[in-house]
Amino acid sequence: MDRLDAMPRLATVWLGGCSGCHMSFLDLDERLISLAGRVKLLASPLTDYKDSPEADITLVEGAVANREHLETIRKVRERTRILVSFGDCAVTGNVTAMRNLFGIDDVLNRAYCENSTIVCGIPAGNGAVPRLLRRVSPVHEVVKVDYFLPGCPPSADVIYNLLATLLEGGAPAGEERRFG
Ligand code: SF4
Repeated sequence: MDRLDAMPRLATVWLGGCSGCHMSFLDLDERLISLAGRVKLLASPLTDYKDSPEADITLVEGAVANREHLETIRKVRERTRILVSFGDCAVTGNVTAMRNLFGIDDVLNRAYCENSTIVCGIPAGNGAVPRLLRRVSPVHEVVKVDYFLPGCPPSADVIYNLLATLLEGGAPAGEERRFG
């Protein structure tokens, strides 16, 4: 792998996931301070990815479950050198993909009608709520992934080891795998 710039640009993105992988990232605790001196953080779930410049490394949490995710992950792939599939939902679909066992109409009916105590109202996909894709997909089924970081969530140690290895320009070993 090519050596990264002295101050690589790091982004994190949240698709269809529970945010647990990002919570694990925050569990890096004091190691976040050492990372802060080594990377420039471009984007996080608190910022709008649409406006982000190109990144060297992007961690992607969650599966691709709706049209907004689809647009985001395609943009991420265009704008990042190293894309890391971050956590089991991104790697396999995991919890997010459990709805693939049922038809999407059944899932929407269950959520918005059968479980509703006041009014049945399935979102019309008018922009207020992104339209669900018929099938939830792991990230590598939609775009090329460079590294997989499995776990639900991956531990802070594993996250740190991957980032430290990438920042030093080496290919990680162990739980992380090179794709393609
Ligand atoms: Fe949450 Fe686990 Fe999915 Fe991460 S892999 S988003 S912790 S369910």
